[in-house]
Amino acid sequence: MKRVVVIGAGIAGTAAALAARNSGAEVTLVRGGSGATSLGVGAYDATPWEVRGESSLTNVPLSASCMQILEQIGCVSCPESGAVLASSTGILRPARAHDDALLDLSVLRSGRVLLLDATIDGWDASSLSRSYNAHSLRGERSFETLLGNFIKHTDERAMTFAELAGRHDAPARLGWLATAIKKALKSTDSVCAILTPPILGAERARAKELGALVGVPCGEAIAPFSSPTGRRFDAGRDRALQHAQVTTVDGWVTRITVADVVAIELEDGAALEADAVVLATGGLLGGGIVYAPAEHILATAVPPYPRRVFECGVDAPVRVGHDGKELLVPGSMFGLAAEQLAWPFTNDPIMERVGVLADQSRASDRVFVAGDLVADRSRTWLEALASGAHAGAAASAT
Ligand SMILES: Cc1cc2nc3c(=O)[nH]c(=O)nc-3n(C[C@H](O)[C@H](O)[C@H](O)COP(=O)(O)OP(=O)(O)OC[C@H]3O[C@@H](n4cnc5c(N)ncnc54)[C@H](O)[C@@H]3O)c2cc1C
Repeated sequence: MKRVVVIGAGIAGTAAALAARNSGAEVTLVRGGSGATSLGVGAYDATPWEVRGESSLTNVPLSASCMQILEQIGCVSCPESGAVLASSTGILRPARAHDDALLDLSVLRSGRVLLLDATIDGWDASSLSRSYNAHSLRGERSFETLLGNFIKHTDERAMTFAELAGRHDAPARLGWLATAIKKALKSTDSVCAILTPPILGAERARAKELGALVGVPCGEAIAPFSSPTGRRFDAGRDRALQHAQVTTVDGWVTRITVADVVAIELEDGAALEADAVVLATGGLLGGGIVYAPAEHILATAVPPYPRRVFECGVDAPVRVGHDGKELLVPGSMFGLAAEQLAWPFTNDPIMERVGVLADQSRASDRVFVAGDLVADRSRTWLEALASGAHAGAAASAT
């Protein structure tokens, strides 16, 4: 049986581990901590939706292996024609797939969507209703606030969404919320859904259960901060990995060397061996790519020598670059000008394309890469899923 080690437990690493396991390999996944997947909002795109617009997103097909992985993780809905989600920033936005607890407006009949007027930090139901009504697609439905008492304890008003979501994992507490909503609803006539802040479960999505108790479809809006979707993903991932018999190790990988076997060294001195390795360590946010200009060598003095501005977070036989070319050591001690690196100084920033150069998912002999770590790919959740699925299958076939 092939031995595959996957490094990084975001969506790319999870997909790689499950794909390698589904192909019959013995898999170990190294979990280094949080990354972009843990901070995601639960709206999952194949291409950045701001760039492509609504219509192009709804028909991006997902491969059978991606669909199988989503089923194994179990907390993601992928409607054939995409979804429309409400954001707590006041916009309605398209998405190709979404966290199960989010309310998909595209499948609702026309009518009124009621927003819980819950007094929680970061949630302003009346402003949101006004904004959604202004943006409402084709005017099929209207948004109104639902007045009532939906927070049980006063201190919960200052909690993060994720903390409060955890309280609704308890059946009794979810039942209390359902009773409060039913009490506030004078009539369900023309009500097509209830939109809540993102508070419906941290272990699992509780939206369907709440909808069944209330008798009207219920679901969450997206929140850009402190959303519980990352926690729900982590819980779904861990259930899927355990069920698939993937071994997990908590630790931070520092070095990979490839000889007769692939040797993986961890920060705490532990070591692993494999026939192939998948690096799915994320981009700048996950720690897979590190911003390391020469001025970092000596903070208080002129750098002694120039060096590449970005490097791979793990010492591994891979090449870092963008636009298909390896990054060169800059001529100046101070590296590249900041204006070349990041938005808003440039519309085509290197920071969004830099990564490990790969042929499909193969970076070098027995070393595969996936997700935000890979150069020149869209930094989206579904792209990370697809590249993880590809890398896991390729690694197990090495
Ligand atoms: C705030 C935010 C909002 C977003 N919104 C959207 C959106 O609306 N739609 C969309 O499609 N996408 C969105 N994205 C992007 C999407 O979340 C990412 O593209 C995707 O999650 C990347 O997954 P990944 O597995 O490649 O990386 P990550 O999720 O970053 O995972 C990498 C993992 O590797 C671990 N790691 C790194 N180095 C090591 C090491 N040396 N040893 C061990 N472990 C290591 C990290 O701890 C991390 O857990 C958003 C991202 C953020 C941050």
